[in-house]
Amino acid sequence: MEHQLLDLRHRPLRDLRISVTDRCNFRCRYCMPEEIFGPEYEFLPKDRILSYEETTRLVRIFVSLGVKKLRITGGEPLLRKDLPAFLHRLNQLEGVEDMALTTNGVLLPKYAKALRDAGLNRVTVSLDSLDDQRFRLMNGGKSGVQPVLDGIEAAVQAGMKVKINMVVQKGINDQDVLPMAAFFREKGHILRFIEFMDVGNSNGWKWDNVVTKKQILDILQERMPLEPVDALYNGEVASRYRYKGSEDEIGIISSVSDAFCSTCTRARISAEGKLYTCLFASRGHDLRTLLRSDQTDSEIGAYIQDIWKARSDRYSEDRMTNSHVSPKIEMSHIGG
Ligand code: SAM
Ligand code: SF4
Ligand code: SF4
Repeated sequence: MEHQLLDLRHRPLRDLRISVTDRCNFRCRYCMPEEIFGPEYEFLPKDRILSYEETTRLVRIFVSLGVKKLRITGGEPLLRKDLPAFLHRLNQLEGVEDMALTTNGVLLPKYAKALRDAGLNRVTVSLDSLDDQRFRLMNGGKSGVQPVLDGIEAAVQAGMKVKINMVVQKGINDQDVLPMAAFFREKGHILRFIEFMDVGNSNGWKWDNVVTKKQILDILQERMPLEPVDALYNGEVASRYRYKGSEDEIGIISSVSDAFCSTCTRARISAEGKLYTCLFASRGHDLRTLLRSDQTDSEIGAYIQDIWKARSDRYSEDRMTNSHVSPKIEMSHIGG
């Protein structure tokens, strides 16, 4: 029977983003700046991270409540041991219609084939510049561009569809918008530009550093005329465009300048098993304790249903009037 679990704004629960680790081999300045996530930073100990068994059980419960799409993220998800075997299990769950992974790409040469064999058809690789120096500056000096391009190539060779995510920051990498667009159009991968967001508390976000959807479109249109493409489904996060006279597409994720909360069907689970009903939430709901108690699946399901029914999140729509007083969860905990 189809569940019609709706929140207070009549939004169904459809997508689940699962962060499998809070660790990362990059230190992107907009996500895990080295000053805060340095050698002294205390990452989650193993026993506070959900095991694959626990996460699989949770996913089964979420699917029974209406979830159809899964996205695996982090931190850097490919740092978690035995990820392909875990994805294989998720992929076999009845009701899971789509599964994707977001990664910084550098470990894809090692794992792409195993991931594909586990049933992963789609991967999103994050890359913010084709210029080595700028890219290093953005990722805390952890990688040049080539290892990421090698990762993308490995995913293609393994038979996966690849999309690219680029966070655009004013004065940092806005000059890379056009070269990135031209490069990935040529390669045949959809590039999605992401407005720099005020996630977490440590990335020094300011409105002045946001390059808005309109500004990104203006930069592109000057050289490569675009036309809008209809959304494939309700709740799609990226506004889609195609280069005129072709089928080649780009996307823009405009959560700052043009919020899409009214169609937000996403729930998020952090690596330690907290449920967040919004990317900008300051509080999560502890599912790990329930999983480790004697609660049954239907009791845990009922708890999650109550949380979803009471959901009224619309942070991005209210961004300009939010007081920003409560500390928010860090991006590396819930994975975007
Ligand atoms: N480590 C993986 C990666 O970078 O692809 C997965 C986790 S990362 C948190 C998920 C996505 O969030 C990446 O595409 C990243 O660029 C994006 N992201 C992180 N911080 C952001 C911010 N402040 N604003 C916009 N996007 C951000
Ligand atoms: Fe790591 Fe991804 Fe955050 Fe960069 S954006 S620090 S790669 S989790
Ligand atoms: Fe969804 Fe929260 Fe983002 Fe709005 S701000 S789209 S409710 S995650």
